[in-house]
Amino acid sequence: MRNLFVAAQREWGRLRSVLSYRRRELVLRHTPLQIWVEPTNKCNLRCVMCINAAATKAHSGFMDLGLYRSIIDQAAGWRPRPITNLFLGGESTLHRQLLDMIRYAAQSGLETALATNATTLSRERSRRLIESGLANIIFSFDGYDRPSFEAVRVGADFGRTVDNIRAFLEIKRELQTRDPRVTLYSLVTRAADAQTERDRLHAFQQTFVGLPIDEFKIELAGHWAGTFDGINTADFQEAVRYGARFLPCFRLWESMSILWDGTVVPCCVDFLGELPLGDSRTQPLLKIWNGAAMLAHRRKMIAQAIGDVSLCTKGTRGCEVPWPTEALLAAPADLAPHSLQRLFRPRLRSRLTRSG
Ligand code: SF4
Repeated sequence: MRNLFVAAQREWGRLRSVLSYRRRELVLRHTPLQIWVEPTNKCNLRCVMCINAAATKAHSGFMDLGLYRSIIDQAAGWRPRPITNLFLGGESTLHRQLLDMIRYAAQSGLETALATNATTLSRERSRRLIESGLANIIFSFDGYDRPSFEAVRVGADFGRTVDNIRAFLEIKRELQTRDPRVTLYSLVTRAADAQTERDRLHAFQQTFVGLPIDEFKIELAGHWAGTFDGINTADFQEAVRYGARFLPCFRLWESMSILWDGTVVPCCVDFLGELPLGDSRTQPLLKIWNGAAMLAHRRKMIAQAIGDVSLCTKGTRGCEVPWPTEALLAAPADLAPHSLQRLFRPRLRSRLTRSG
C-alpha cells in the first residue's frame, strides 16, 4: 500500500514538473524528482566511451560523509522524495564509506540506485551491498564476450568481472530478497554494433540462468554533450539522435546533480563542473534550485540562447537533450509521468533495448 502511495506521489510530482515546464516557469514550486550524488569522481578503468577517457580531471576526490548526510537530510524532506542516484563521473565502490551512504539514504526513506563496473566486488562486499537497503543496481558491462568487453572496458578482465556479477547474484538468491533490482547494461557506440551485441546476448544470458537478474539492456552510448566529437566523430555522430525541434533541456526542471566536492551542476553530464550553479557545502539545495545561476540557465534555455554555454554546445551540434526525438504533453517524453510514457511512448527504444 505504501509503495502504491509513493508511486502515486511520484507520478503526481512528474505531472507537476511537466506543467511547470510547459508554462516555462523560472522559479519552481516543485522539488527535483531525482538527484545525482557523486561519492567520487575517481575511476579504476578508462572505458573508451566514458568522460574519464576523454578528459583529465585536475580536481578529484571523495565526498565527505558529513556533506553527504546533509544532502540526504534535505532531500528526505521533499515530496515526492527524489530517486537518489549514487554515481556520476566515477566508480562509486571506490568510496570506503559507500555502504554507510546507501544505508543512510535508505533509512531516510530514499530510493537509491548505484551503477558500478563490478570490478571491485568481492563476495563479502556484495553481501553487504545487498543488505544495505540499496534499491537498484546497474552493472555497466559493455560487450558480451571477452574481446568486445576488454576493447571497451579498458583495465577490466572479462572473466573476473562476470564471476563478480555471478557471485553477487548467487548471494542475492541465497538471501531470497527482491532488492536490489538488477540491470545489466551494455552500451554500444554504433547502431550496427547494437545488432551484433543483441546476437551475442542469448549466449551470454546462459551464464546467468537461474540467477535473479531483472533486465538486460543494450543502448547507444551518448556522446556526453558533444565531448566525444573529434575523438571518434563518425561513431558518435551515428549513435546520437537529434529530434527536429529544440525544446529547453528538461533536466533543469527535473533533477539536480551534486559533485563529490559539493558543487551543484545542472545535469549529470557536467562531470567536470563546467557550469557550477552553487555550493551545497554552504547553500541549501533548494536555494540553488531556484538560485540566480539556475534561473539564468533556465532563462537561456527557454530563449534558446545557449550559444555561450560551452557545456551544452560542444562538438558539432552540442548536447542532444534539448533536441528530443519524442515528446509527450508538449514536453520531452523523458519528463512525463512514467505511466503515460508506458501508455503512449512509441517503441523507439525497442530497437536497442531488450529485457531478458
Ligand atoms: S543541455 Fe546542457 S544542461 Fe541540459 S543535459 Fe545537456 S549539457 Fe546538461
